[in-house]
Amino acid sequence: METMEVEIEIPRSHPRYESLVIRERLVRGFKEGYVVAQGLIAHGRGECFDYIIGERTIEPALKAIEAAAAALLLAKYPVISVNGNVAALVAEEVVRLAKKVNAKIEVNLFYRTEERVRRIAEVLRGCGADEVLGVDDAVATIPELFSERRRVSPRGIYAADVVLVALEDGDRTEALRKMGKTVIAIDLNPLSRTSLAASITIVDNVVRALPKISEAVDKLRGKPRAELEVILRNYNNAKVLAEVLLHIDRRFRELAEGVNKLVWSAGGP
Ligand code: ATP
Ligand code: MG
Repeated sequence: METMEVEIEIPRSHPRYESLVIRERLVRGFKEGYVVAQGLIAHGRGECFDYIIGERTIEPALKAIEAAAAALLLAKYPVISVNGNVAALVAEEVVRLAKKVNAKIEVNLFYRTEERVRRIAEVLRGCGADEVLGVDDAVATIPELFSERRRVSPRGIYAADVVLVALEDGDRTEALRKMGKTVIAIDLNPLSRTSLAASITIVDNVVRALPKISEAVDKLRGKPRAELEVILRNYNNAKVLAEVLLHIDRRFRELAEGVNKLVWSAGGP
């Protein structure tokens, strides 16, 4: 039996294998001291939305992913912001994407301690990052923000024109937009303040979304700038969020119609 090497052994055949493996990665990050308890709660909220959308990358997310890839390729100074959950779940993918679009990587934490920052930087370097910002250079501040997340690197988020964030807080997303930055957010909740405030919202699990952004970058690379600009100009975030809500609406209706069958396949009422 194939299993993942974690604290508890999860059999491959478990119907919720993927989801359990993801949880284990977060628990490991928590035990290693760089994922915070609040991050575990945030993940639980994300899981709920993932269940609702059907645990797959939906059509509106693909549109947002294409726009995100175009924005990253057009950016003068793109930065990928990393927190504890992102480091635990997709550190390798962050490094891969950063290399592809020549983006800086910056650690930025809501619950900042120097120890957590240092550990996350270690995880990223372990995955091949040459440079990690936000460690001892988080000396610039984002105006109007009061959490520790206002501290940023002057060579990173502060200077960026495009910032990619995942599992971000609403206040900071709004503050980054006010600074004139293009914010690409990966957030499973289409109604979070982050999702509503971002320039491009990818409603998808960060585990699926990041590799798909890399794929989209590969597909769009080499296209004329004008073509990428058209993709961005035609992109409408409010419309995409509406499509996500309509997807959920449709899915609930279909589930409601088939609920008898679902109940019987789970053992009967
Ligand atoms: P906001 O501050 O934007 O209003 P919030 O306070 O409800 O949002 P936060 O804890 O600030 O939530 O942000 C975490 C967000 O990340 C939540 O919207 C949650 O659904 C989402 N999330 C959690 N896990 C994942 C994941 N694996 N992939 C994508 N999004 C996730
Ligand atoms: Mg929040």
